[in-house]
Amino acid sequence: MRLNDEGKGQIDGSKVVREVVHGGSDGKTVSTAHGFPGTRQNASVPTVPRVHPGNVGRGMLMDLRNIASVRGANFFEADIGLQDYLCDHVESFENKWKSTLSDFGAFVANDVDQQAEYTDRYFRPKLEHREDGGKYHSKVIYNKFWIDVSRELYRRGIVGLNYTEHSAPYTVTFAMAYMLGQADISLHCPVAMTTAVTYVIDRFAPAPLRAKYLPKLASMRGDAFTAGTWATERHGGSDIGATTTEARAEGDHFALNGLKWFVSNASSELAIATARPSGAPGGSKGLGLYVVPARWTDGSVNSIYVRKLKDKLGTCGIATGEVELAGTKAFEFAPPPHGFKVMMEALEFSRIQNVLASMGIQRRAFMEAANYCYHREAFGRRITEYPMVQEQLTDIIVRVEASLALGFEVMRAFEAVKHETLESSKRAWLRLITALAKYQTAEHANVVCRKALETMGGNAYTYDYCLSRLVRDAQVLSIWEGPANIQALEMIRILAKFGGLAPIEDRARCLLDRIPAELRGTGERLVLYLDKAKSATKLVLSDLGESERHARNLMDFLADIVAALLLLEETGHELARGSARKAIIARLFIESRLDRVHDRSFKPGRTLHERTFDALMNCQPVPIAELTHGGPS
Ligand SMILES: Cc1cc2nc3c(=O)[nH]c(=O)nc-3n(C[C@H](O)[C@H](O)[C@H](O)COP(=O)(O)OP(=O)(O)OC[C@H]3O[C@@H](n4cnc5c(N)ncnc54)[C@H](O)[C@@H]3O)c2cc1C
Repeated sequence: MRLNDEGKGQIDGSKVVREVVHGGSDGKTVSTAHGFPGTRQNASVPTVPRVHPGNVGRGMLMDLRNIASVRGANFFEADIGLQDYLCDHVESFENKWKSTLSDFGAFVANDVDQQAEYTDRYFRPKLEHREDGGKYHSKVIYNKFWIDVSRELYRRGIVGLNYTEHSAPYTVTFAMAYMLGQADISLHCPVAMTTAVTYVIDRFAPAPLRAKYLPKLASMRGDAFTAGTWATERHGGSDIGATTTEARAEGDHFALNGLKWFVSNASSELAIATARPSGAPGGSKGLGLYVVPARWTDGSVNSIYVRKLKDKLGTCGIATGEVELAGTKAFEFAPPPHGFKVMMEALEFSRIQNVLASMGIQRRAFMEAANYCYHREAFGRRITEYPMVQEQLTDIIVRVEASLALGFEVMRAFEAVKHETLESSKRAWLRLITALAKYQTAEHANVVCRKALETMGGNAYTYDYCLSRLVRDAQVLSIWEGPANIQALEMIRILAKFGGLAPIEDRARCLLDRIPAELRGTGERLVLYLDKAKSATKLVLSDLGESERHARNLMDFLADIVAALLLLEETGHELARGSARKAIIARLFIESRLDRVHDRSFKPGRTLHERTFDALMNCQPVPIAELTHGGPS
């Protein structure tokens, strides 16, 4: 083994000459432990070989056997699934947006990723209080690396690109958010809220408010406002209708009084907050929505007192505070009964962001685990040669690609609806797929991060690797923007309003009409599951008690069926190019998530995933004959 100047192994063609795990530097430490780290030299970063110039379809492009470290890879260039999706769905993608995203992929995989580790380990946000003439002030302190990287994200247009004269499709900034999720969920949090607030201000705010704040939120000059969404109070976050913060009219503005219990991005320049105007009825119909700037129009500091920062399990890089509002000045955004609805629009947007973060974090966990395992030896063999390790990594990649399929569908559905406000079948599909994907991608993110850590072993449990941070950060994805049960209730509302499973059935019918012969058996099994889901849906929609009892289980079942459908849809691309890889992923997903519940038999001989393991991990073509090996399925 030869080591380079940094003690890292070198890439020798396609042959791995480095042992990453037995001692030595892994290139993951931040250069100055308690100062502000410098940018890592790109020269030390291995290039990512494009193993398939012919492009075999959605999946992983990076060959994880041949790279020294995932950090430093370009998260855009390394992602054939993302590139394929963007080429198919964004007009003139290659000419207009590719280089922007490629630069962004490098920035995220280097600067943002190093910042994430530094902030999490050495300099989490801190809160300072000071008294000034009888008034109490609070200030959140971030490290300079965090501030610079955060500013750069907005300068590169993660919000603003959607609001320029020749604006980008949302798909482009969604792709940025997905890549950001691969490096730092903490930094993604303010991005999620800022994109959501910008979106609703653009669409629903009164003209003067829009004119005042949209340019600041969408700025790409390095001075952009970031935003917060203040809904959760001490009594709970799910029941926003029970909001107790009061809004009192004071001339041309309102004064808010109350306590917001979870305020992430606690030092944001702007926030939208739910509050109840004096005399308004209880429940969600009595809620207004208010824009709260950190500085009022005359430049004075607004009364926003962060009394405490939450001491959290994860996302420790972003300040989440308890915020006291005492005569806090605010502009009316939407009076009752519209306030709640507009907040829900913002929430729906940030749920899409949650899906993107969930996709990102699990893709990172997969890449880290597969890369590590390809280099790790035990009992004289690479551990990727052991069938049980192969099974663990296969389970991970199958979940990751199912999540990507759901997430890409959410992006597609959002672009199809865009600025439509009326309830339509397209909008119903967006709401349904967002609820299913928010739930299921967050579940997969949690499982994938945990399994990736376990597959890597003890080293991943230490802070030498990012996995321990990913495991902690992933937990929040199934809580904020509405926990699983709340998504299930949203799903029930949509199913009840838009006629049961009709949108899913339509989609399935289209697919099954043109499914290739090799996958007919798999498709037929899916139809049986869909029939089962139809009867379950009938029961669940039959009365409130059954809904409250079974909604979550039904959501779990439907999310798997839809993910399977989407994966099967994706097989077309690759099969046409002569590769069965995605079809195998789809089949393994159906077997593990749907069939396996009923069939736990143990069969002798090498399994499908063992025969195709390297191709599954590294996005290489698989002969179509694999699909009929041992008879058609
Ligand atoms: C790190 C972090 C940052 C956050 N940042 C923000 C922020 O910036 N702004 C903000 O407004 N909020 C924020 N939140 C709050 C978050 O949105 C809430 O935690 C979330 O909405 C759930 O609310 P809750 O925690 O009060 O749980 P609750 O609403 O008390 O719910 C508890 C449990 O009961 C279940 N439940 C509730 N109602 C029902 C029902 N009808 N049927 C079945 N089950 C039900 C839920 O699914 C959940 O499992 C943040 C939370 C965290 C952890």
